[in-house]
Amino acid sequence: MTGTPVYDSVTHDVPVIVKGGMETPSTAGSVKIITWSKKERTRRALKMLGACWAVGLFCVILPVIHFVLVPGLFIAGIVFFSNLISQETLVLGGKGECPECHQSFAISRGKDRFPMAEVCESCRANLSIDKPESVRP
Ligand SMILES: [Zn+2]
Repeated sequence: MTGTPVYDSVTHDVPVIVKGGMETPSTAGSVKIITWSKKERTRRALKMLGACWAVGLFCVILPVIHFVLVPGLFIAGIVFFSNLISQETLVLGGKGECPECHQSFAISRGKDRFPMAEVCESCRANLSIDKPESVRP
């Protein structure tokens, strides 16, 4: 396919600060944040709705369990649809340096809501991941 590419999603590297205990100075890290366009959100949401309802339709032929699965998947489709359509951004994950033990640790995938809570893989310290003031919208 040729022509101008359409950006359905954009991924940004966003710097974050990692805070440990009260006495330790915070360290730096970065996360990847994906932002979906309205079109792409709708597409993803419809795909999920279609998948849930398709499996739900298939379950109609299954004896007994279809009483649970068919309405369950019907409702699940609607729930996933409304979640995905309102989800504009997602933290795909990232890396940071632990302020306590100075080992690098992985920041897990999750909602784009800061501060995020994370546990250091090396020293089990409870860390708080936040955006620097300048990056906040
Ligand atoms: Zn640590």
